Amino acid sequence: MVEIGGSDARKIVRVLRLQRGDRIEVVDSAAVAFCAAIEDTGKIVRATLVESLARDGGETTLALDVAQAVPKARRMEFVIEKCTELGARAFLPFYCERSAGRHVGSEKLARWRRLARSSAQQCGRRDVPAIRDPEAFDALLERFEGYEAVLFAWELAPRLPLRERLLAALARVERVLLVVGPEGGFTHDEAEAAVRHGASLLSLGRRILRTDTAAVALLAVIDALTS
Ligand code: SAH
Repeated sequence: MVEIGGSDARKIVRVLRLQRGDRIEVVDSAAVAFCAAIEDTGKIVRATLVESLARDGGETTLALDVAQAVPKARRMEFVIEKCTELGARAFLPFYCERSAGRHVGSEKLARWRRLARSSAQQCGRRDVPAIRDPEAFDALLERFEGYEAVLFAWELAPRLPLRERLLAALARVERVLLVVGPEGGFTHDEAEAAVRHGASLLSLGRRILRTDTAAVALLAVIDALTS
């Protein structure tokens, strides 16, 4: 028996208007999904587990994390929503030299995490991407060694054919980090430090994309190339 409360229960009862006997999909904290039958509705919805469901078919084993320089205003919300739909596994917000904003309060962070959860639900994902606490660029650099490939989006990188670059960079790797800079871009020093820490510089083409477009565009291209 599982008990579902809060906004999930409200959605089941008021929005979807499900009733006793209806089936729902329940996902546990290990991203294992179950089919469950509703027993009782109300503030708390009770359901019995019917069977466990196989993991999604067709999903690649690529785990893509997005390190995004915290952008101005509410643009991070766009990045979180769209990249969650496109399969990002985790978000690593960071600040660097030309970052415009430098403070993310606990309320904003909580809103980002709620958004990741609702976007994951909306697009039928069974896992919710993690959103790490924002950190400084130097701390982000130390995380690079935990990845098999780090793609550092830099508009001044040599402009090579993206398709070939990505197919080569992503062959035989699973843990990949995409790094996108702030509105003001990365400095040369930051790009050099990234390379020293094992990143490959990546040009996304001849146009300069806005910071909140870059990761979304890159994930869509990777999705198309690898699925
Ligand atoms: N301020 C810079 C551009 C910053 S764009 C300028 O005006 O020249 C914001 C971020 O998006 C960059 O730091 C980079 O990570 C990414 N980006 C945008 N366009 C890109 C491109 N053509 N190639 C690689 N990265 C790009």
